[in-house]
Amino acid sequence: MTDTTLFRSLELIEPGDLVLYHGSIDTSHGLWLAVPCPCRICRAVDAFGLADVRFALIDPWGERPGPFHARRESITRSAACA
Ligand SMILES: [Zn+2]
Repeated sequence: MTDTTLFRSLELIEPGDLVLYHGSIDTSHGLWLAVPCPCRICRAVDAFGLADVRFALIDPWGERPGPFHARRESITRSAACA
């Protein structure tokens, strides 16, 4: 792994970024649009300034509900938007 790939893997995910989900929900693996999880729990955690930011994943085609509270480690910024 080069310094460049290490830096890229730590890249921040911006709201609306296309991401690959590879977390614990097998049936949801694939491409999603990531936004900060809007639920009350995650927003409360965020307000405390904890680093464990969670994401809600939105189907780019609007066809199915995505997983909520996805961990940062469970998603990778898609090369498609690089
Ligand atoms: Zn949440």
